Amino acid sequence: MKAVQIVKPNELRIIDMPKPEINEHDNVLVKIKASGICGSDVGIYHGTNAAATYPRVIGHEIVGEIVEVGPNVKTRKVGERVIIDQVTACGHCYACRKSRPNVCHHLQVRGVHIDGGYREFMAVPEGDCYLLPDFLEYKDAVMIEPTTIAVQACSRAQLESEDDVMIIGAGALGSSLLRIVKLFNPHSIIMADIDDAKLDEALKNGATHKINSRSEDLVKRAKELTGGYGPTVTIDAACVKGSLLNACQAAGNATRVITMGFSIAPDEINQFVITSKELDIRGSRLQNRKFGEVIKLVNEHKVNLNGAVSHTFPFLEAQKAFDFVDSRDPSIRKISLMFD
Ligand code: MN
Ligand code: ZN
Repeated sequence: MKAVQIVKPNELRIIDMPKPEINEHDNVLVKIKASGICGSDVGIYHGTNAAATYPRVIGHEIVGEIVEVGPNVKTRKVGERVIIDQVTACGHCYACRKSRPNVCHHLQVRGVHIDGGYREFMAVPEGDCYLLPDFLEYKDAVMIEPTTIAVQACSRAQLESEDDVMIIGAGALGSSLLRIVKLFNPHSIIMADIDDAKLDEALKNGATHKINSRSEDLVKRAKELTGGYGPTVTIDAACVKGSLLNACQAAGNATRVITMGFSIAPDEINQFVITSKELDIRGSRLQNRKFGEVIKLVNEHKVNLNGAVSHTFPFLEAQKAFDFVDSRDPSIRKISLMFD
């Protein structure tokens, strides 16, 4: 079968690899139908993702059809349309025992540490497959994964309706966050970014206020918009130099600050800003078995993923797709690689 492999940073190749076989552990064979291109896939391609190992078949937003099941499979059937969980965990370490497999000590993420979804078939455990909503096309169903990332962040933030939420960064991650945050019906949702077009799109999609952090003082404006207190949940989805310090400076006393960045570049922060307010600064990584929750939200029409994908490419033209991403064309939202 064919696969898209990143041989080493900046070298993408279409390779032939053996079609996987089902066994006792990987007991369901899935014919891949679509795989999304995520910012982290682009990072692995360009060698800027510290977690990735090479060579790697990337792709972690993976949907397809079950074409074969092992003899002991109980919950899944041939012909079902599914999305595959990208997290694989040891099940024994401290994090796993605390029901947090997304930060397992031996974490292996499909498409990052082990081969992912840019290939024609995958064999996986039945428990890693979740049934897609009937009405959702494969190309759009890849968006379920980024939505789980947003659900995870809101769960780490213990979001409640009385919260004043600030999301820093109105890109792909920020938009997914907004889609979920507004379901909690919080007191306010402030979107901060340096791009007015993205901020206006956020206002259309449910943000209550915007801050252009290039032309306005982010910390001062965030205080003003929250009656002087500061946001009670601040999510850093920009993850750029200075954004964590800004998030902590803006945050109100006794509130939560969520980090989602993966940069290893040092950044300035001081203890006073954390201790004086007793901030809870929490990382949010991947997602902890959130697929069921997101699929339920889609089935109940509380989350609409139709139209979020802006472009599709045949998976054998992955090079073209990644070159297009590099062009930074403003029309790009989400790109799905399609299989037949
Ligand atoms: Mn993703
Ligand atoms: Zn573990």
